[in-house]
Amino acid sequence: MTAQATVSWKDDASRDLVLNSGDRFALLVRGVGAHLWDDEGTRYLDFLGGIAVISLGHAHPVFVKAVADQAATLGHVSNYFATPPQLGLAARLKRLAGTGESGRVYFGNSGAEANEAAFKLARLHGGADRPRILALKNAFHGRTMGTLALTGKPAMQQPFEPMVPGVEFLDSTIEALEAAIDDRVAALFVEPIKGEAGVLELPEGYLAAARELTERHGALLIIDEIQTGAGRTGAWFAFQHTGITPDAITVAKGIGNGIPIGALITFGAASDLFYPGTHGSTFGGNPLATAVASAVLDEIESAGLVDAAAERGQQIRDAVTAIGSALVEGCRGQGLLIGVALRHPVAGAVVAAAQQHGLIINAANDSTIRLAPALTIGDVEIDEFQNLFARALATVEDALMLDDTHETTEASA
Ligand SMILES: *Cc1c(COP(=O)(O)O)cnc(C)c1O
Repeated sequence: MTAQATVSWKDDASRDLVLNSGDRFALLVRGVGAHLWDDEGTRYLDFLGGIAVISLGHAHPVFVKAVADQAATLGHVSNYFATPPQLGLAARLKRLAGTGESGRVYFGNSGAEANEAAFKLARLHGGADRPRILALKNAFHGRTMGTLALTGKPAMQQPFEPMVPGVEFLDSTIEALEAAIDDRVAALFVEPIKGEAGVLELPEGYLAAARELTERHGALLIIDEIQTGAGRTGAWFAFQHTGITPDAITVAKGIGNGIPIGALITFGAASDLFYPGTHGSTFGGNPLATAVASAVLDEIESAGLVDAAAERGQQIRDAVTAIGSALVEGCRGQGLLIGVALRHPVAGAVVAAAQQHGLIINAANDSTIRLAPALTIGDVEIDEFQNLFARALATVEDALMLDDTHETTEASA
Protein backbone atom coordinates (compact mmCIF):
# COMPACT_ATOMS: atom_id res chain seq x y z
CA MET A 1 0.00 0.00 0.00
CA THR A 2 2.67 2.48 1.05
CA ALA A 3 4.84 1.66 -1.92
CA GLN A 4 1.90 2.21 -4.26
CA ALA A 5 1.07 5.51 -2.60
CA THR A 6 4.65 6.74 -2.98
CA VAL A 7 4.91 5.98 -6.68
CA SER A 8 1.51 7.40 -7.60
CA TRP A 9 2.56 11.07 -7.69
CA LYS A 10 5.33 10.15 -10.14
CA ASP A 11 2.75 8.43 -12.33
CA ASP A 12 0.52 11.50 -12.12
CA ALA A 13 3.41 13.77 -13.00
CA SER A 14 4.55 11.73 -15.98
CA ARG A 15 0.99 11.36 -17.28
CA ASP A 16 -0.39 14.87 -16.66
CA LEU A 17 2.46 17.38 -16.89
CA VAL A 18 4.02 18.65 -20.09
CA LEU A 19 7.24 16.80 -20.87
CA ASN A 20 9.44 19.90 -20.72
CA SER A 21 11.13 18.84 -17.50
CA GLY A 22 13.00 15.74 -16.39
CA ASP A 23 11.77 13.47 -13.61
CA ARG A 24 10.94 15.30 -10.42
CA PHE A 25 12.93 14.13 -7.43
CA ALA A 26 10.38 14.61 -4.67
CA LEU A 27 6.82 15.64 -3.95
CA LEU A 28 7.32 18.65 -1.70
CA VAL A 29 4.44 19.53 0.58
CA ARG A 30 5.66 22.11 3.08
CA GLY A 31 8.43 24.60 3.84
CA VAL A 32 9.58 26.63 6.82
CA GLY A 33 12.57 28.96 6.65
CA ALA A 34 15.41 27.15 4.86
CA HIS A 35 13.77 23.72 5.11
CA LEU A 36 11.36 21.72 2.97
CA TRP A 37 9.48 18.49 3.61
CA ASP A 38 8.27 15.89 1.16
CA ASP A 39 5.12 13.75 1.34
CA GLU A 40 7.00 11.05 3.23
CA GLY A 41 8.16 13.44 5.94
CA THR A 42 11.77 13.66 4.74
CA ARG A 43 13.32 17.02 5.57
CA TYR A 44 15.59 18.88 3.13
CA LEU A 45 17.82 21.89 3.56
CA ASP A 46 16.94 24.25 0.70
CA PHE A 47 20.07 25.93 -0.67
CA LEU A 48 18.48 26.63 -4.05
CA GLY A 49 15.61 28.80 -2.78
CA GLY A 50 13.36 27.92 -5.71
CA ILE A 51 16.16 29.31 -7.96
CA ALA A 52 16.96 32.54 -6.12
CA VAL A 53 13.28 33.29 -5.46
CA ILE A 54 12.79 32.58 -1.76
CA SER A 55 14.57 35.62 -0.32
CA LEU A 56 12.99 35.44 3.14
CA GLY A 57 12.70 31.68 3.46
CA HIS A 58 9.60 29.53 3.19
CA ALA A 59 6.41 30.60 4.97
CA HIS A 60 8.08 33.71 6.38
CA PRO A 61 5.48 35.44 8.63
CA VAL A 62 5.83 38.74 6.74
CA PHE A 63 5.09 36.97 3.43
CA VAL A 64 2.22 34.96 4.88
CA LYS A 65 0.61 38.02 6.47
CA ALA A 66 1.00 40.14 3.32
CA VAL A 67 -0.69 37.46 1.18
CA ALA A 68 -3.53 36.96 3.65
CA ASP A 69 -4.15 40.65 4.38
CA GLN A 70 -4.11 41.75 0.76
CA ALA A 71 -6.19 38.76 -0.42
CA ALA A 72 -8.76 39.78 2.17
CA THR A 73 -8.66 43.43 1.02
CA LEU A 74 -8.33 43.60 -2.77
CA GLY A 75 -6.84 40.93 -5.03
CA HIS A 76 -7.20 42.17 -8.59
CA VAL A 77 -8.87 45.02 -10.51
CA SER A 78 -7.13 45.30 -13.96
CA ASN A 79 -4.88 48.10 -15.10
CA TYR A 80 -7.80 50.42 -15.83
CA PHE A 81 -7.30 51.35 -12.18
CA ALA A 82 -4.46 52.27 -9.85
CA THR A 83 -4.18 50.67 -6.41
CA PRO A 84 -2.17 51.71 -3.35
CA PRO A 85 0.04 48.56 -3.32
CA GLN A 86 0.98 49.06 -6.97
CA LEU A 87 1.92 52.71 -6.45
CA GLY A 88 3.77 51.81 -3.26
CA LEU A 89 5.87 49.13 -4.95
CA ALA A 90 6.66 51.33 -7.95
CA ALA A 91 7.92 54.10 -5.67
CA ARG A 92 9.92 51.59 -3.62
CA LEU A 93 11.56 50.00 -6.67
CA LYS A 94 12.50 53.44 -8.02
CA ARG A 95 14.10 54.31 -4.70
CA LEU A 96 15.98 51.02 -4.36
CA ALA A 97 17.19 51.12 -7.97
CA GLY A 98 18.15 54.77 -7.61
CA THR A 99 16.25 56.06 -10.65
CA GLY A 100 15.43 59.41 -9.08
CA GLU A 101 12.21 61.26 -9.98
CA SER A 102 12.27 60.44 -13.69
CA GLY A 103 12.21 56.64 -13.34
CA ARG A 104 9.17 54.51 -14.15
CA VAL A 105 8.08 50.93 -13.48
CA TYR A 106 6.18 48.44 -15.66
CA PHE A 107 4.80 45.35 -13.93
CA GLY A 108 4.48 41.84 -15.39
CA ASN A 109 4.22 38.41 -13.81
CA SER A 110 7.59 36.80 -14.47
CA GLY A 111 11.16 37.42 -15.46
CA ALA A 112 10.41 36.69 -19.09
CA GLU A 113 7.60 39.26 -19.11
CA ALA A 114 9.91 41.88 -17.61
CA ASN A 115 12.42 41.16 -20.39
CA GLU A 116 9.70 41.17 -23.07
CA ALA A 117 8.86 44.69 -21.92
CA ALA A 118 12.57 45.57 -22.06
CA PHE A 119 12.80 44.17 -25.60
CA LYS A 120 9.86 46.35 -26.67
CA LEU A 121 11.51 49.31 -24.93
CA ALA A 122 14.61 48.66 -27.04
CA ARG A 123 12.53 48.55 -30.26
CA LEU A 124 10.71 51.77 -29.33
CA HIS A 125 14.07 53.43 -28.78
CA GLY A 126 15.61 51.95 -31.92
CA GLY A 127 12.84 52.53 -34.46
CA ALA A 128 13.86 52.05 -38.09
CA ASP A 129 17.31 53.61 -37.66
CA ARG A 130 18.57 51.21 -35.01
CA PRO A 131 17.58 47.64 -35.92
CA ARG A 132 20.46 45.99 -34.04
CA ILE A 133 20.17 44.58 -30.54
CA LEU A 134 23.24 43.20 -28.81
CA ALA A 135 23.26 40.50 -26.15
CA LEU A 136 25.91 38.24 -24.66
CA LYS A 137 26.63 34.66 -25.65
CA ASN A 138 25.53 32.19 -23.00
CA ALA A 139 23.43 34.76 -21.08
CA PHE A 140 19.89 33.72 -20.17
CA HIS A 141 16.95 36.09 -20.56
CA GLY A 142 13.92 33.78 -20.70
CA ARG A 143 11.96 31.16 -22.62
CA THR A 144 9.25 33.14 -24.42
CA MET A 145 9.83 33.74 -28.14
CA GLY A 146 11.08 37.30 -27.58
CA THR A 147 13.33 36.55 -24.64
CA LEU A 148 14.55 33.32 -26.26
CA ALA A 149 15.71 35.46 -29.18
CA LEU A 150 17.77 37.42 -26.63
CA THR A 151 19.18 34.25 -25.06
CA GLY A 152 22.57 33.41 -26.55
CA LYS A 153 22.29 29.65 -26.36
CA PRO A 154 21.92 28.13 -29.85
CA ALA A 155 20.78 24.73 -28.53
CA MET A 156 17.84 26.37 -26.72
CA GLN A 157 16.84 28.41 -29.76
CA GLN A 158 17.23 25.81 -32.50
CA PRO A 159 13.93 23.87 -32.09
CA PHE A 160 11.97 27.13 -32.18
CA GLU A 161 13.52 28.90 -35.14
CA PRO A 162 12.95 31.28 -36.79
CA MET A 163 13.81 33.66 -33.97
CA VAL A 164 12.61 37.23 -33.63
CA PRO A 165 15.18 39.02 -35.81
CA GLY A 166 17.75 41.68 -34.99
CA VAL A 167 19.65 40.15 -32.08
CA GLU A 168 23.41 39.59 -32.31
CA PHE A 169 25.47 37.74 -29.72
CA LEU A 170 28.83 38.88 -28.44
CA ASP A 171 31.62 37.38 -26.38
CA SER A 172 31.62 38.89 -22.88
CA THR A 173 34.70 41.04 -23.44
CA ILE A 174 35.07 44.80 -23.70
CA GLU A 175 36.93 44.32 -27.01
CA ALA A 176 34.02 42.39 -28.54
CA LEU A 177 31.63 45.16 -27.53
CA GLU A 178 33.93 47.87 -28.91
CA ALA A 179 34.13 46.00 -32.22
CA ALA A 180 30.38 45.43 -32.52
CA ILE A 181 28.75 48.62 -31.34
CA ASP A 182 27.76 51.43 -33.71
CA ASP A 183 24.98 54.00 -34.13
CA ARG A 184 22.57 51.36 -35.46
CA VAL A 185 22.42 49.56 -32.10
CA ALA A 186 19.19 50.11 -30.14
CA ALA A 187 20.26 48.36 -26.95
CA LEU A 188 22.77 46.12 -25.24
CA PHE A 189 21.33 43.47 -22.89
CA VAL A 190 23.62 42.30 -20.10
CA GLU A 191 23.18 39.65 -17.40
CA PRO A 192 25.61 40.90 -14.74
CA ILE A 193 26.34 37.40 -13.40
CA LYS A 194 25.30 34.65 -15.81
CA GLY A 195 23.31 32.54 -13.38
CA GLU A 196 21.89 29.84 -15.66
CA ALA A 197 25.19 29.47 -17.54
CA GLY A 198 27.13 28.60 -14.37
CA VAL A 199 27.29 31.74 -12.18
CA LEU A 200 29.83 33.35 -14.51
CA GLU A 201 30.96 36.87 -13.70
CA LEU A 202 31.71 39.56 -16.27
CA PRO A 203 35.30 40.71 -16.71
CA GLU A 204 36.44 43.51 -14.40
CA GLY A 205 35.26 46.88 -15.71
CA TYR A 206 32.81 45.44 -18.23
CA LEU A 207 29.71 47.31 -17.05
CA ALA A 208 31.55 50.63 -16.86
CA ALA A 209 32.87 50.13 -20.39
CA ALA A 210 29.42 49.03 -21.58
CA ARG A 211 27.92 52.20 -20.10
CA GLU A 212 30.51 54.38 -21.77
CA LEU A 213 30.16 52.71 -25.19
CA THR A 214 26.35 52.54 -25.24
CA GLU A 215 26.13 56.18 -24.21
CA ARG A 216 28.59 57.24 -26.89
CA HIS A 217 26.53 55.44 -29.56
CA GLY A 218 23.09 56.37 -28.26
CA ALA A 219 22.12 52.78 -27.38
CA LEU A 220 20.25 51.72 -24.25
CA LEU A 221 22.07 49.69 -21.61
CA ILE A 222 19.57 47.18 -20.21
CA ILE A 223 20.66 45.03 -17.28
CA ASP A 224 18.86 41.79 -16.46
CA GLU A 225 18.79 41.69 -12.65
CA ILE A 226 16.17 38.95 -12.50
CA GLN A 227 18.46 36.53 -10.69
CA THR A 228 20.92 39.01 -9.15
CA GLY A 229 18.38 41.54 -7.80
CA ALA A 230 16.59 41.98 -4.48
CA GLY A 231 19.81 42.08 -2.45
CA ARG A 232 21.14 38.66 -3.37
CA THR A 233 24.63 39.77 -4.42
CA GLY A 234 25.15 42.08 -1.43
CA ALA A 235 23.74 45.18 -3.17
CA TRP A 236 20.08 45.76 -4.01
CA PHE A 237 21.01 45.24 -7.65
CA ALA A 238 24.31 43.90 -8.99
CA PHE A 239 24.96 46.95 -11.20
CA GLN A 240 25.17 49.02 -7.99
CA HIS A 241 28.52 47.40 -7.17
CA THR A 242 29.91 49.37 -10.12
CA GLY A 243 28.55 52.90 -9.71
CA ILE A 244 27.09 53.12 -13.24
CA THR A 245 23.52 54.15 -14.11
CA PRO A 246 21.81 51.92 -16.68
CA ASP A 247 18.82 52.91 -18.86
CA ALA A 248 16.72 50.03 -17.59
CA ILE A 249 16.86 46.97 -15.38
CA THR A 250 14.56 43.98 -15.13
CA VAL A 251 13.70 42.25 -11.86
CA ALA A 252 11.57 39.25 -10.82
CA LYS A 253 12.64 36.13 -8.89
CA GLY A 254 13.70 37.40 -5.44
CA ILE A 255 11.39 40.39 -5.11
CA GLY A 256 8.26 38.32 -4.46
CA ASN A 257 9.42 35.39 -2.31
CA GLY A 258 7.27 33.18 -4.52
CA ILE A 259 4.38 35.43 -5.56
CA PRO A 260 4.68 35.63 -9.36
CA ILE A 261 5.86 39.13 -10.31
CA GLY A 262 8.34 40.79 -12.64
CA ALA A 263 9.12 44.41 -13.41
CA LEU A 264 10.94 46.66 -15.84
CA ILE A 265 12.45 49.71 -14.16
CA THR A 266 13.51 52.56 -16.44
CA PHE A 267 15.88 55.44 -15.80
CA GLY A 268 15.91 58.94 -17.32
CA ALA A 269 14.83 59.43 -20.95
CA ALA A 270 14.12 55.70 -21.42
CA SER A 271 11.20 56.25 -19.04
CA ASP A 272 9.21 58.13 -21.68
CA LEU A 273 9.38 55.59 -24.52
CA PHE A 274 6.20 53.64 -23.84
CA TYR A 275 2.97 55.44 -24.72
CA PRO A 276 -0.68 54.37 -24.39
CA GLY A 277 -1.44 51.12 -26.18
CA THR A 278 2.16 49.94 -26.58
CA HIS A 279 2.20 47.30 -23.85
CA GLY A 280 0.16 45.75 -21.08
CA SER A 281 -0.72 42.72 -18.98
CA THR A 282 -3.99 41.71 -17.34
CA PHE A 283 -2.45 40.43 -14.11
CA GLY A 284 0.67 42.62 -14.13
CA GLY A 285 1.03 44.78 -11.04
CA ASN A 286 -2.15 43.58 -9.39
CA PRO A 287 -2.65 44.58 -5.75
CA LEU A 288 -2.00 41.06 -4.42
CA ALA A 289 1.40 40.59 -6.07
CA THR A 290 2.55 44.17 -5.48
CA ALA A 291 1.53 44.23 -1.81
CA VAL A 292 3.45 41.01 -1.22
CA ALA A 293 6.56 42.19 -3.08
CA SER A 294 6.50 45.47 -1.14
CA ALA A 295 6.31 43.59 2.14
CA VAL A 296 9.15 41.28 1.07
CA LEU A 297 11.42 44.17 0.04
CA ASP A 298 10.50 46.06 3.21
CA GLU A 299 11.58 43.07 5.30
CA ILE A 300 14.84 42.64 3.31
CA GLU A 301 15.54 46.30 4.04
CA SER A 302 14.54 46.48 7.69
CA ALA A 303 16.24 43.20 8.61
CA GLY A 304 19.50 44.29 6.94
CA LEU A 305 19.48 41.29 4.59
CA VAL A 306 21.41 42.96 1.77
CA ASP A 307 24.52 43.26 3.96
CA ALA A 308 23.74 39.81 5.38
CA ALA A 309 23.83 38.37 1.85
CA ALA A 310 27.41 39.59 1.42
CA GLU A 311 28.51 38.24 4.82
CA ARG A 312 26.68 34.92 4.64
CA GLY A 313 27.95 34.45 1.09
CA GLN A 314 31.53 34.76 2.30
CA GLN A 315 30.78 32.39 5.16
CA ILE A 316 29.47 29.78 2.70
CA ARG A 317 32.53 30.13 0.46
CA ASP A 318 34.74 29.61 3.51
CA ALA A 319 32.66 26.59 4.52
CA VAL A 320 33.02 25.09 1.02
CA THR A 321 36.78 25.66 1.07
CA ALA A 322 37.05 24.15 4.56
CA ILE A 323 35.49 20.90 3.31
CA GLY A 324 38.76 20.45 1.45
CA SER A 325 37.23 18.28 -1.26
CA ALA A 326 39.50 17.32 -4.14
CA LEU A 327 36.46 17.74 -6.41
CA VAL A 328 36.07 21.47 -5.70
CA GLU A 329 38.09 23.94 -7.72
CA GLY A 330 36.68 27.11 -6.09
CA CYS A 331 33.70 29.44 -5.84
CA ARG A 332 32.38 32.06 -8.25
CA GLY A 333 29.61 34.63 -7.90
CA GLN A 334 28.77 37.33 -5.39
CA GLY A 335 26.95 37.33 -2.07
CA LEU A 336 24.39 34.54 -1.95
CA LEU A 337 24.54 33.72 -5.65
CA ILE A 338 27.34 31.19 -5.61
CA GLY A 339 28.72 28.83 -8.21
CA VAL A 340 30.86 26.01 -6.83
CA ALA A 341 33.20 25.04 -9.66
CA LEU A 342 34.01 21.33 -9.81
CA ARG A 343 37.12 19.79 -11.35
CA HIS A 344 35.08 17.17 -13.18
CA PRO A 345 31.77 17.36 -15.09
CA VAL A 346 29.88 15.61 -12.27
CA ALA A 347 27.54 18.39 -11.09
CA GLY A 348 24.51 16.21 -11.83
CA ALA A 349 25.88 13.40 -9.66
CA VAL A 350 26.65 15.83 -6.84
CA VAL A 351 23.09 17.23 -6.97
CA ALA A 352 21.65 13.70 -6.88
CA ALA A 353 23.90 12.69 -3.97
CA ALA A 354 23.00 15.90 -2.11
CA GLN A 355 19.30 15.14 -2.49
CA GLN A 356 19.86 11.66 -1.08
CA HIS A 357 21.56 13.30 1.91
CA GLY A 358 18.74 15.85 2.31
CA LEU A 359 20.22 18.92 0.61
CA ILE A 360 18.61 20.74 -2.32
CA ILE A 361 21.06 22.45 -4.70
CA ASN A 362 21.27 22.55 -8.48
CA ALA A 363 23.63 22.06 -11.39
CA ALA A 364 24.01 25.33 -13.31
CA ASN A 365 26.13 23.43 -15.84
CA ASP A 366 28.01 20.11 -16.00
CA SER A 367 30.72 21.24 -13.63
CA THR A 368 29.08 23.97 -11.54
CA ILE A 369 26.81 23.69 -8.51
CA ARG A 370 24.57 26.72 -7.96
CA LEU A 371 23.71 27.85 -4.44
CA ALA A 372 21.03 30.52 -3.91
CA PRO A 373 19.65 30.07 -0.38
CA ALA A 374 17.35 32.45 1.47
CA LEU A 375 19.00 35.71 2.58
CA THR A 376 17.83 34.85 6.10
CA ILE A 377 20.11 31.82 6.61
CA GLY A 378 22.28 31.79 9.72
CA ASP A 379 25.12 29.84 11.32
CA VAL A 380 22.97 26.77 11.98
CA GLU A 381 21.90 26.41 8.35
CA ILE A 382 25.42 27.02 7.06
CA ASP A 383 26.84 24.34 9.39
CA GLU A 384 24.14 21.94 8.24
CA PHE A 385 24.91 22.80 4.61
CA GLN A 386 28.64 22.21 5.11
CA ASN A 387 27.99 18.81 6.65
CA LEU A 388 25.50 17.67 3.96
CA PHE A 389 27.51 19.09 1.05
CA ALA A 390 30.68 17.40 2.34
CA ARG A 391 28.81 14.08 2.41
CA ALA A 392 27.47 14.60 -1.12
CA LEU A 393 30.94 15.46 -2.45
CA ALA A 394 32.43 12.44 -0.67
CA THR A 395 29.79 10.17 -2.20
CA VAL A 396 30.70 11.35 -5.69
CA GLU A 397 34.45 11.26 -5.00
CA ASP A 398 34.09 7.63 -3.91
CA ALA A 399 32.16 6.80 -7.06
CA LEU A 400 34.80 8.51 -9.22
CA MET A 401 37.61 6.63 -7.45
CA LEU A 402 35.78 3.37 -7.99
CA ASP A 403 35.46 4.26 -11.68
CA ASP A 404 39.17 5.09 -11.87
CA THR A 405 40.10 1.77 -10.24
CA HIS A 406 37.72 0.01 -12.58
CA GLU A 407 39.23 1.71 -15.64
CA THR A 408 42.77 0.99 -14.46
CA THR A 409 41.87 -2.66 -13.91
CA GLU A 410 40.33 -2.91 -17.33
CA ALA A 411 43.26 -1.14 -18.95
CA SER A 412 45.79 -3.40 -17.27
CA ALA A 413 43.78 -6.53 -18.01
C1 LIG B 1 15.07 33.26 -14.38
C2 LIG B 1 15.62 34.28 -15.28
C3 LIG B 1 14.86 34.83 -16.35
C4 LIG B 1 13.48 34.33 -16.68
O1 LIG B 1 12.58 34.48 -15.64
P1 LIG B 1 11.21 33.61 -15.64
O2 LIG B 1 10.48 34.12 -14.44
O3 LIG B 1 11.61 32.18 -15.56
O4 LIG B 1 10.50 33.93 -16.90
C5 LIG B 1 15.43 35.82 -17.11
N1 LIG B 1 16.66 36.26 -16.88
C6 LIG B 1 17.41 35.77 -15.87
C7 LIG B 1 18.78 36.33 -15.64
C8 LIG B 1 16.92 34.77 -15.06
O5 LIG B 1 17.68 34.26 -14.08
